[in-house]
Amino acid sequence: MEKYLYKRNSGDYTILMAYPAIEEFALASLGYMWLYKIADSMSGINALRCSTDNIVSAKNIQSIAFSMSFDFDFMGVFGILDKLHIPFYAKDRDESYPLIFAGGPVITTNPRPYEAFFDFMLIGDGENLFPKILDILKSNSKSEALELIGKLEGVYIPDKTAVKATVPLEDVIYTPIISDKGYFKDTFVIEIARGCMNRCAFCTASYTNLPFRSYQYEQIIKAIDLGLEYTNKIALLGAQISAHPNFNEIMHYLEDKIDSGIKLELGISSLRTDSVTPKMVQTLVKGGQKHSTIAIEAASERLRRFINKNLKEQQIIDAVRISRENGLKGLKIYSMIGLPTENQDDIDEFIRLGKILRAENKGFGIEFSFSTFVPKPHTPFQWTKREDTKSLEKKQKYLEKQLAKIGISSKFSSIKWDYWQAVLSRGGSELAPFLVEVYNNGGKIGAYKSALKTLKPEIKQEFELDEVLPWDVLEIYPGKKLLINEYNRLFRRL
Ligand code: SF4
Repeated sequence: MEKYLYKRNSGDYTILMAYPAIEEFALASLGYMWLYKIADSMSGINALRCSTDNIVSAKNIQSIAFSMSFDFDFMGVFGILDKLHIPFYAKDRDESYPLIFAGGPVITTNPRPYEAFFDFMLIGDGENLFPKILDILKSNSKSEALELIGKLEGVYIPDKTAVKATVPLEDVIYTPIISDKGYFKDTFVIEIARGCMNRCAFCTASYTNLPFRSYQYEQIIKAIDLGLEYTNKIALLGAQISAHPNFNEIMHYLEDKIDSGIKLELGISSLRTDSVTPKMVQTLVKGGQKHSTIAIEAASERLRRFINKNLKEQQIIDAVRISRENGLKGLKIYSMIGLPTENQDDIDEFIRLGKILRAENKGFGIEFSFSTFVPKPHTPFQWTKREDTKSLEKKQKYLEKQLAKIGISSKFSSIKWDYWQAVLSRGGSELAPFLVEVYNNGGKIGAYKSALKTLKPEIKQEFELDEVLPWDVLEIYPGKKLLINEYNRLFRRL
């Protein structure tokens, strides 16, 4: 069942709001759902939702908007276009086809591999830009609309440059449709802050969302009250939620609700390691949370300092102890392997840290969760080399074995998929035929290998500081010059 938290509208202009994955994930994507809400509540617009398992083939679709959150989402984009019998390449679509555009974190980070498929792309925050685009679309022909949209800040059109749209956070964004079909079933997710001021050198969530911004406390509370009219499951969202200036007050407000008898289920996806307090954990436990996650990124203090994750070992030890003492059943400790400059000593630090945590927290669930370092555009590590697959596999085997010996379970992301993620993240427009070939071959790992063999696209693993990068077409604060300074600062202080 779906409960709409806003008044719907309709109109003559039909836009397909397409999510390139299954509906369960579409309903859990706050950015996508919020833009759908904007379209669905606007007069003159007939907004239709569409996902890979729920493809709407309505007549007279005038435009299709895709939201891309993950690097492999191009498969879903092609899947939907395929089912609708629409050519993939923009150059093959004449006036009779809908206008097709995309936005979302993947596009904001690097639109280049996908630019041949879209008429235009949205870079950055969409909540203010999207209504302007809809206004233009509903009252202009396709070619006129394209010309007008191309002049808006935050819009990227191939062969041009674009400035990222960054909004001051005014109207709080929350789940506009509560659904039992979503990945977060019947949950009201509310964004309380955007970005993160820590600037870890690999972190695209921080670097593409600067400066850190937060919503007004009063607005958040008002939205939470609205959510509670429809559900008792509330989740707070943001890369650095505990940096919200009123974070404690928000937690108190939620705790008071629980104390007043409301059976509130509270969700916070991860805790910031250096700010875990007994009170915070107690509130989460009262809200029904049993497990949580902390991100330490690396076990060695040397490596953490190098990547700008300024977290002391004692803070990790304290975070685990506080979580255990205040009622959580277990903690996932998230880290990476393959970070620039990582050596065997850094890997062995995981075992040493694991031993300390195991000894001090008997009976408490501790799991080390690893992914491999994927260099991302717009970060100080955008130029660095990704470690080769064989060497990463060796590290994975070693860690799995050694951590199991001390009674700590471990999970690893797929090294092979992470490799392809790195290729797509830093790719250019030359990847377009490669992506189509991968899709045509089914999209599994083997499809990447065979497309590589057939098309031999140039895959760059490392970039020079002074070379022009594919994603230099975007202007994103703080800009390339400051990224170079930060790169030099980090490597100089080794
Ligand atoms: S603390 Fe987390 S969100 Fe913030 S910059 Fe570091 S990795 Fe990114």
